[in-house]
Amino acid sequence: MQMQLLIDRIRKDGIVKDGDVLKVDAFLNHQIDVGLLEEIGKEIRRQFDGKKVTKILTIEASGIAIACIAARYFNCPVLFAKKTKTLNIAGDVYTAEVYSFTHQKMNRIIVSKSFLHADDSVLIIDDFLANGKAIIGLSELVSQAGAELVGAVSVIEKGFQGGGDRIREMGIDLHSLAIVESMDPEKGLIFREEEGIH
Ligand code: 5GP
Repeated sequence: MQMQLLIDRIRKDGIVKDGDVLKVDAFLNHQIDVGLLEEIGKEIRRQFDGKKVTKILTIEASGIAIACIAARYFNCPVLFAKKTKTLNIAGDVYTAEVYSFTHQKMNRIIVSKSFLHADDSVLIIDDFLANGKAIIGLSELVSQAGAELVGAVSVIEKGFQGGGDRIREMGIDLHSLAIVESMDPEKGLIFREEEGIH
């Protein structure tokens, strides 16, 4: 379910760049509005009400702040996947390959086997959802560990890039707090019309 407070803030402070990039540096990706993140954290908890979550999994760097505040409402730790360029990974890790939309390059993401276990119930949280590679890569780490994937949250889904549809087709319980249907540097932003904006 989308979140009106967040949509209003994106309308006010979001900047549409060329190349299908939305900048939200004023409140999420550079300067951080912690009060807004608290509301986002509460909303995520509400949307997964009654679900058991033992770990929140995100990806460095921009997912970490959101995941940490959300984790306060789930009373669980945050685990963030690290990005590495090397193929020689020391130690016991789960890994997946993720093509970075913003940097246009392949990253290998890793988490230590020490922190993700078969008895974990994992909620994935990330800031943006474009082609879906980040969330799919994170879900691969969860399945390598044999853990349960409770669902995934993207704070901002760019619906026109298709990643959200792909993830929903995979059967993952995906919740996006704002879904951009289309955007244009001149015409601005249009959000997905749907029942149940909260
Ligand atoms: P995906 O893996 O779904 O293609 O892209 C999601 C990842 O790329 C997110 O982790 C996010 O950091 C980055 N990303 C994708 N699109 C945007 C965007 O429009 N703006 C910003 N700031 N980051 C984006």
